Amino acid sequence: MADFTSEQKDIKKAAREFAEGVFREVARELDEKEEFDDRIWKKAAELGFLGVFIEEKYGGAGYGYVEQCLIMEEFARVDLGIAHALDSVFFGSQIIQVIGTEEQKQEYLPGVCSGKTRMGMAITEPDAGSDVASITTTAVKEGNEYVITGNKMFITNATVADFLVVLCVTNPNASKKHERLSTIMVETNRPGYEANKLKGKLSLRCSNTGEVTLNNVRVPKKNLLGEEGKGFYNIMEFFNRSRIQVAAFGVGTAQGALDKSIAHVRQRQQFGQPLAAFQIIQAKIADMATLAEAARSLLYRAASKIDDGDVDPALISMAKWYCGEVAVKVADEAIQIHGGYGILQEYDVEHYWRDAKVIEIFEGTKEIEKILIARKILGRY
Ligand SMILES: Cc1cc2nc3c(=O)[nH]c(=O)nc-3n(C[C@H](O)[C@H](O)[C@H](O)COP(=O)(O)OP(=O)(O)OC[C@H]3O[C@@H](n4cnc5c(N)ncnc54)[C@H](O)[C@@H]3O)c2cc1C
Repeated sequence: MADFTSEQKDIKKAAREFAEGVFREVARELDEKEEFDDRIWKKAAELGFLGVFIEEKYGGAGYGYVEQCLIMEEFARVDLGIAHALDSVFFGSQIIQVIGTEEQKQEYLPGVCSGKTRMGMAITEPDAGSDVASITTTAVKEGNEYVITGNKMFITNATVADFLVVLCVTNPNASKKHERLSTIMVETNRPGYEANKLKGKLSLRCSNTGEVTLNNVRVPKKNLLGEEGKGFYNIMEFFNRSRIQVAAFGVGTAQGALDKSIAHVRQRQQFGQPLAAFQIIQAKIADMATLAEAARSLLYRAASKIDDGDVDPALISMAKWYCGEVAVKVADEAIQIHGGYGILQEYDVEHYWRDAKVIEIFEGTKEIEKILIARKILGRY
């Protein structure tokens, strides 16, 4: 893609100013306490950073995924945990926008853009992670309702969301495994919904992750999102739009770790010279910068294709795994460049390193992304 427009540059600048001004001073404390500060969510909503790809008539800014990625890149550059907590507020709105009915879009989208409600996606189960099609949570039709029973694992916003899009089995006897599933909206204040927060995470410690139990939760049939039996395909469409934001997390995390390293090598002296004077250190900085820039190019090429209506799942998978791997490599090298100081909390690079790892795992592990890429190239084996 060509360079960013002046409007996109303004969005990036505004996101950087917000993140630098608000996240930097609280990031370490929120990470330690494993808690989020909802005032940041409310402020981000007020400034219009949430769900900018959502059409204006549903409360969004009517921009695209390039703009949303610019925001998430800048947020992750300062702190991935806070970036993820903010991104998760509208986690799932991508698919409501694509397949929701007019009524559903009006009911669910304005709240997540304006900071009134938080949502989430409940796909993963204790025995079905990468193998999405093997989930067992059931939704049985009774009159005008679905009765939902099952367990979900690693659900972002589990204990704070107002509603979740839940992947359920509605057609257990479908001839194809992938056609058993449907996506259904579940409000978390319904009887039978229970959630526990998971504590002690390596990454994204301030972002809420939990286990969900659905025990005969009744929802009206109108909560079905899309068609019955199309749930698996809905989730894949959702991933096409959410994974690109995870790729933006990777680029931002890499850039943040690189920026910390540049400042450190200029300031730290050894053998009577700044570290920046040593050619091995210069080569490390050059490698890190090149990796981050290559990841950025892939990210925005994949994102701009989504905005052009030419969604390319394999390209999105390439961006997702590559940007995650770059974040891990750059954060690792950032610790190396900091020497012993790199493992001290005070220098922040250990925090980038811890956060970077999860980018290679959630919303499709890097192994699964590579399977999808190879399948496009080689076909199914
Ligand atoms: C912080 C966090 C937040 C999350 N938020 C959400 C959320 O909001 N909603 C939600 O639904 N889920 C969420 N998840 C779950 C996440 O998407 C899963 O953890 C991820 O999809 C991997 O599933 P798993 O953990 O069960 O690992 P597994 O599927 O058990 O995989 C274990 C390992 O085996 C590999 N593997 C699996 N299958 C294959 C294969 N066919 N070939 C080669 N290798 C394979 C994987 O790549 C991985 O390395 C979250 C996870 C985390 C950590």
